[in-house]
Amino acid sequence: MDIQRSLFDDFENNDNVVEPKPVKKVQLTGDEARIVELRESLNRHNHNYYVLNQPTISDQEFDRMMRELQDLEQRHPELADPLSPTQRVGSDLSHGFEQVRHERPMMSLSNSYSIEEVQDFLRRAKDGLGSEPVEIVGEMKYDGTSISLTYENGRLVRAVTRGDGVRGDDVTANAITIRSIPLQLPQGLDYPAKFEVRGEILMPWASFERLNKERAFNEEPLFANPRNAAAGTLKLLNSAEVARRGLDAYFYFLLGENLPYRTHTQAMEALRSWGFKTAHTQVLESIDAVSSFIEFWDKERKTLPVATDGLVFKLNDMRQWQRLGATAKSPRWAIAYKFAPERECTKLKFVSYEVGRTGVITPVANLEPVLLSGTIVKRASLHNEDIIRQLDIHDGDMLYVEKGGEIIPKIVGVELKQREPGAKPLEFVTHCPVCGTPLQRVEGEAAWVCPNKWGCPPQITGRIEHFVARHAMNIDGIGEEVAVQLHESGLVNNIADLYDLTIDKLLKLDRFQRRSAERIMRGIEQSKQVPFERVVYALSIQFVGETTAKVLARNTHNIDRLMEMPAKELASFPEIGPKIAQSIVEFFSIDSNRDIVERLRWAGVQMALSEQELADRTTKLEGKKIVISGVFAKHSREEYKAMIEHNGGKNVSSISKATSFILAGENMGPSKLEKAQKLGIEIINEDQFLDMLENASE
Ligand code: AMP
Ligand code: ZN
Repeated sequence: MDIQRSLFDDFENNDNVVEPKPVKKVQLTGDEARIVELRESLNRHNHNYYVLNQPTISDQEFDRMMRELQDLEQRHPELADPLSPTQRVGSDLSHGFEQVRHERPMMSLSNSYSIEEVQDFLRRAKDGLGSEPVEIVGEMKYDGTSISLTYENGRLVRAVTRGDGVRGDDVTANAITIRSIPLQLPQGLDYPAKFEVRGEILMPWASFERLNKERAFNEEPLFANPRNAAAGTLKLLNSAEVARRGLDAYFYFLLGENLPYRTHTQAMEALRSWGFKTAHTQVLESIDAVSSFIEFWDKERKTLPVATDGLVFKLNDMRQWQRLGATAKSPRWAIAYKFAPERECTKLKFVSYEVGRTGVITPVANLEPVLLSGTIVKRASLHNEDIIRQLDIHDGDMLYVEKGGEIIPKIVGVELKQREPGAKPLEFVTHCPVCGTPLQRVEGEAAWVCPNKWGCPPQITGRIEHFVARHAMNIDGIGEEVAVQLHESGLVNNIADLYDLTIDKLLKLDRFQRRSAERIMRGIEQSKQVPFERVVYALSIQFVGETTAKVLARNTHNIDRLMEMPAKELASFPEIGPKIAQSIVEFFSIDSNRDIVERLRWAGVQMALSEQELADRTTKLEGKKIVISGVFAKHSREEYKAMIEHNGGKNVSSISKATSFILAGENMGPSKLEKAQKLGIEIINEDQFLDMLENASE
């Protein structure tokens, strides 16, 4: 593809104004009319809340309408719409990503680091335009991952990542869960029949902190910054998890054929009026205005809810974009200005060591307090021994701490000039700082762990806290303090002991109130109804997070099969690799863990999928690998995926010799069709598929 023929080809004919589309007035009746009405009004309230930050109804009222819509849609599967506001919650079923070619390549921007470089850029632009005057606009450079959205007739049809600039991944299923992305534009506005918007998918600071806190608790690797977190989240296979993580999106380009806008500011104004969250775009009259803009935002950006790593300056006149064109990598009519990350040098007082729930030891640098990006930094994680070696940290060193796009302060280096003569390289602890057991190095990894899993207090209380957590057994009233108290008193040494608690035993604890004791006992009683998949998660098997636990529960059906399953079989389930499989086998090879399971079972905790969950399952598609392609009329794609999995089949994303058949709707992708024909793989339509499920024997 000719990269030079870039996005500005399309602004040629800009006197072709798009007429507002007349609102279709079709007479709808009853439920259908109500569905349309609810969808429109939920979309509007969604925009008020997530784009304008000005909700006009209460959360309860919003939820009530959402529930009503869900009910109606359930009763009328024929009226399903993949862009209905009810679809924003995503799905637990994994979907692969199809590679899509961008209609116009997605380029990056050249960088500048000083006002002089911005001036050079402007001079070059003016020269290129034969000294024609230029108007410059400034906006934030959002630090996330770029996205291209295509709309046809006001409906979102595709969301594609930048990829290599020429091809990207189709992440529509995930983009739909981002509440500030309009799915269906309001009727009657003057948007073109087809257009593309580009912008940035971001993880707001608040979501980022919540996510990392959760990951720290689960001892999963933390995201270094919101950019990595946003990019990682957008590529998750589980859109329900994407929905939960709270991404946001800001837009800064509008593209299409024959658009009626002459300037970038007008285009942004149009986007805003159609419901998009846009970059704040400001016209800058002089180079002094550019300077003040930089100065202002270098401070002010810290108050924004999302991460930024600089500014972008663009020429405002889009005809000039077209005349200037682009180099192989970036346009000549725009430039990024990068802020310098904040960095300070401070003294290392000492290193402390924290013991997590799975025994992993994390070294933490305790620093002479220093002010960085508006917060005082006293501690910074050193992650593991390898990082300490790489940085070559010695006792009492002066360390450079940086906080760029990252909220987590990072040690980036040592000031060697200030090293004390005779200072020794930092020595990693050899014994658990809490229980004194000699540490072991995890094979193939940088981590040291305390192997005293069943006797090391922070590991025991960590597992109790995990067991009672909201996403696990949801037992209220046991926080860190109570967990430690229960353990130290000898009442609870493992999660099964929780089920031997009584009000009287709890009341014997120091300063324990009857009300708290009753609350805990109620939580314990209710936890016996918590579904099996969450029980699997609650057990604290290393590497088994919420998603993995679901996969395990759905594929094994009960704890007995899970306990006996060899690693090889476990690793054949989706999203379960050999490392996780090994960890599961190891967990159940320990007698005390099997005892705990038996005691939990005896206490009444769910150790199998419920009758209902099982009843929905058959083996009609056992062993079948099925590719879904195209658009369907009777059920949504997600519903078909669910049907395949409930009937024992496996939904796979790409066609190979091993594919059993393709379930195809309208508009199956031409490359898929070709491949299927070449490999001679059967293609069936939705009616045939539904028949197959109806009539096949188990
Ligand atoms: P870089 O990846 O550092 O080359 O910077 C280019 C990227 O900046 C683009 O691909 C966009 O994803 C991103 N970006 C963030 N904010 C803006 C903006 N206001 N205008 C254009 N690009 C932006
Ligand atoms: Zn220990």
